[in-house]
Amino acid sequence: MSQTNPYENAKELINEAADKLNLEVWIREALLMIHKELHVTFPVEMDDGSIKIFNGFRVQHNHMRGPFKGGIRYHWDVNIDEVRALATWMTIKCGVVDIPLGGAKGGVICNPKDMSEKELEKMTKAFVRRISPLIGPSIDIPAPDVYTNAKVMSWFVEEYAKCTGKKELAVVTGKPLDLGGSEGRDEATAKGGVFVLKEVIRQKYAKGLDSLKDKKVVIQGFGNAGSVFARLIHEEGAKVIAVSDSKGAIVNEDGLDIPKVIEHKKMKGCVSDCIDATNTTNEDILEMDCDILVPAALENVITMENVDRIKAKLILELANGPVTSSAGKVLYKKGITIIPDVLANAGGVTVSYFEWRQNLDDEHWSKEEVNKKLEKIMNENTSLVIETAKKYNVRTRLGAYILSISRITHKAKEELDDEHCECWKKIF
Ligand code: NAD
Repeated sequence: MSQTNPYENAKELINEAADKLNLEVWIREALLMIHKELHVTFPVEMDDGSIKIFNGFRVQHNHMRGPFKGGIRYHWDVNIDEVRALATWMTIKCGVVDIPLGGAKGGVICNPKDMSEKELEKMTKAFVRRISPLIGPSIDIPAPDVYTNAKVMSWFVEEYAKCTGKKELAVVTGKPLDLGGSEGRDEATAKGGVFVLKEVIRQKYAKGLDSLKDKKVVIQGFGNAGSVFARLIHEEGAKVIAVSDSKGAIVNEDGLDIPKVIEHKKMKGCVSDCIDATNTTNEDILEMDCDILVPAALENVITMENVDRIKAKLILELANGPVTSSAGKVLYKKGITIIPDVLANAGGVTVSYFEWRQNLDDEHWSKEEVNKKLEKIMNENTSLVIETAKKYNVRTRLGAYILSISRITHKAKEELDDEHCECWKKIF
């Protein structure tokens, strides 16, 4: 088994948590399975008149706690095991923050950087036509992920309306504000991460971290999650000493001027060559001496290959799956605290849940209201994850899985009537 197969890593963690909980076989098996997955192929006419065939997936992992929920990724490396892992993590994540949703994910194998806006719109709409029988406001609600955004979501709404004859805003989240998007959604993942970090510090859970003031922070990935996190943590008084994106990295040991870096990225399309900073590589910044390391790009960036060179005191996983399962165990033994993805980046799905609720109830909440509700959820559940990890004497990631799976189990048993339950038990 490959150490970097994220789906195998996700299943290994479910098994570990299930062992700790003495989980009944039928719930363990249900969590180790994929509820439904759709593989689609579709043609798109490109700007030069040629026809290109695209492949995509929608994977629904589990809906014991509510409708399926999860983003859509556009990336050349998208593959079915990655999407299965991301869907499984969504199930666990929704359980960690105790919102009534299940887990799903989708992706299209493409290079959005090489496509015009018109081509992206055509590809998105063709993908929606393929997956529309599987999604819907009370069934499965997609959202943005890597290289998708509010505009892509607006194409989803438009095309889904064409497919079904009904305009339903609640079919996706992460929409533009004027199309039923929620205040605060664009900042939610990063803001949630900051709330989690502050609670971890308040609880004195990470060795050597007593405040954010002047703490050295390194951030890999400078998109929706990473760049907003950089701005917020900079405003909290931390010193962001290095950031990166897919094209390269920059360093300033005295602290980067984050508003300037954001402006530079907006103008030049990358962080490299920013004023008052030195260019370096993506790999190098992961190994810098720092207090807080924030991977905010893709999976498998901290592996058995580089784990011994990681010097951070704490790792906050804003990306999904950046630390492999085996590397995580090594870091735990070394006393490095990892705040796992299923908690650290759960602010995104939490505000997506708020958006969905607002659409269903025809409401519009203010940014203050959204942020207040988000802070409460993130603080309370960070506290519970820490409590669970301490209770079972396990690493934080496993604590989060145990908390989530116990909530999923509770809900599953509540929902299933005795007859149905007996039937499941007989199957396994
Ligand atoms: P995004 O598309 O906005 O940004 C991705 C960033 O990663 C870009 O800056 C890109 O240049 C960088 N990147 C890509 N490949 C890289 C590489 N090899 N090395 C370094 N940087 C690289 O995506 P996002 O929404 O910020 O998502 C980033 C991560 O956060 C993903 O793992 C995603 O699943 C996770 N996440 C995002 C949200 C959300 O609300 N956006 C919520 C939960 C989790």
